[in-house]
Amino acid sequence: MKIKIDFHTHCLESTGDSVPRIGTVREIVKQIRKRGLDGIAITDHDKKDYAYRVKEMVDLHFPGEFVILPGQEICINRQHVVELYLENDSVFRFCAHPLFGSRFLEFIKEEGDNIHGIEIKNAAWQLQEDKVNEIAKRYNLITLKNSDAHSIREIGIHYNEIDLEELYRRCNGTKCSNP
Ligand SMILES: [Zn+2]
Repeated sequence: MKIKIDFHTHCLESTGDSVPRIGTVREIVKQIRKRGLDGIAITDHDKKDYAYRVKEMVDLHFPGEFVILPGQEICINRQHVVELYLENDSVFRFCAHPLFGSRFLEFIKEEGDNIHGIEIKNAAWQLQEDKVNEIAKRYNLITLKNSDAHSIREIGIHYNEIDLEELYRRCNGTKCSNP
């Protein structure tokens, strides 16, 4: 079943909470509803604990209503990569806002099957969509549209309509680099 989901949001960086408060979680949920989404991934820089806590709170207070995928945005060889932690312990990874610096292609080749997707839209950056499509085709990457929200109201500016099974299928067997 296809759902509407934004895979790249900085909820911790949007709120400044060190631990999510229920009021913050309600605001996040309100914004997800307002955009008509089924869920979001929470992908702060080099931190995943906040995302897991928000997921726990949403699952507790809004059971069965929203999909919250914990993740984080990390740097691998100076490239920004978003990791999403799926339920069977596999990890879906995509290139965030690719700017095609000189080492980009080398990076994609080196990572091989460890990268599964690439952003074609990101509300914080103007991306070269033709080039993204070309690379996606060449390296068999799924193209993604995300907000990269750094404030709650930016959540869901862009989103994907996708069956989550597609993520599981793409990253089958890829495990977390720093569990
Ligand atoms: Zn980001």
